[in-house]
Amino acid sequence: MSERTATGLLDHPRGAEPGKPGDRSAFSFETVTRLSSTADGLGRDGARYGRTGIIHTPHGDIKTPAFVPVGTQAAMKAVLPEQMKDLGAQCLLANAFHLFERPGEDVLDAAGGLARFMNWGGPTFTDSGGFQVMSLGVGFKKTLAMDVTGMKSDDIIAKGKERLAWVDEDGVTFKSPLNGSSHRFSAEISMGIQHKLGADIMFAFDELTTLMNTRSYQENSVERTFRWAKRCVAEHERLTAERLGKPYQALYGVVQGANYEDLRRHAAEQIASLDFDGVGIGGAIEKRIIGNTCAWICDAMPENRPRHVLGIASVDDIFACVENGGDTFDCVAPARCARNGAIYTRSGRYNIKRAENKFNFEPLEEGCDCYTCRNYSRAYVDHLLRAREFNGFTLATIHNEHFFVKLLDDIRASIDGGYFDEFRDETLAHFYGDGERRPGL
Ligand SMILES: [Zn+2]
Repeated sequence: MSERTATGLLDHPRGAEPGKPGDRSAFSFETVTRLSSTADGLGRDGARYGRTGIIHTPHGDIKTPAFVPVGTQAAMKAVLPEQMKDLGAQCLLANAFHLFERPGEDVLDAAGGLARFMNWGGPTFTDSGGFQVMSLGVGFKKTLAMDVTGMKSDDIIAKGKERLAWVDEDGVTFKSPLNGSSHRFSAEISMGIQHKLGADIMFAFDELTTLMNTRSYQENSVERTFRWAKRCVAEHERLTAERLGKPYQALYGVVQGANYEDLRRHAAEQIASLDFDGVGIGGAIEKRIIGNTCAWICDAMPENRPRHVLGIASVDDIFACVENGGDTFDCVAPARCARNGAIYTRSGRYNIKRAENKFNFEPLEEGCDCYTCRNYSRAYVDHLLRAREFNGFTLATIHNEHFFVKLLDDIRASIDGGYFDEFRDETLAHFYGDGERRPGL
């Protein structure tokens, strides 16, 4: 069901000598194994774009598919970078907006970039800051847009929250949630911040929309994101040339378009036409078409551009996205859930604070080889979390992050080994229970 291939590496010199700082050939993607097409493949001519590969970055390689843990403030909450490395994480993602607010991108630039600043030896990603900026003051998973006046305020603004951001043609103006000061994000400003943060992989500044926005708004938004994307590429090239002493930073364009196939395809062609190193699949997508959305985008993308699915949240979504071409996936859920006591296992998610765990001295998951499960019991982690002890956050987070890192490692092995379909079916049946998928896992 799979075939081994080797594609050529990207070769896009940007003015620097090969192998020197600023040399674009320091970033590339090579395919290792492709999933074979099937009769029900969602891509063009039944193609399945799933694959294993290697992203080469100036700070090391990422074997894909890979899970990218999110350390919002250049830190995993309660877990050291050394512990993230020990549990198998290959790379980390931090949020440009939070680091812009505190401590400021100049600090990370002076420190030698994000990886060195946080004592993480491997590859790093930063998002564009757009999601956080456009989410200021609104409810969970909702973002602001220009046409919010036509909606009921409760649909957009979370109760008790103040609206802190306004989108216009050029960018976003917002008030800092930290101190109320007024700031502006645009394509150029996001690029300037991300260049100073120094991650290996950055994202273009895009406009996020919600599934509540009208079709005409989505159309206009996709065009606006394309205009911003062109500005990001131009500013990225200018900054890369200006900062030749720094390792090359790759830039991914982001495809929006909500649930509309034609808009997603159109946006993917737009992003593919620009000189991006990779692509981010972003925005609100209904679960039922998440695999289709990846396939529509991959139809338009050159194979040598890695594809990152932004903010993916569940095990079945990960399988659907991997099968249809996703290479890397970030998500805050494993750490956030861990701090609330929600523990991921291959047979589903459970809450460790349930009464039956009070005297349970078994590991969080039988057979798990993470540090927590090798050394600590459910009863102890339950006690720590109830007592709000920091070590409880640490131990639960290590297990949950390991769960997702290992899941992607196992998926990668299944593609290389030619048993992806069987592995997917078994894993999903085991995780969700035969025949029934529980939402939100
Ligand atoms: Zn474990």
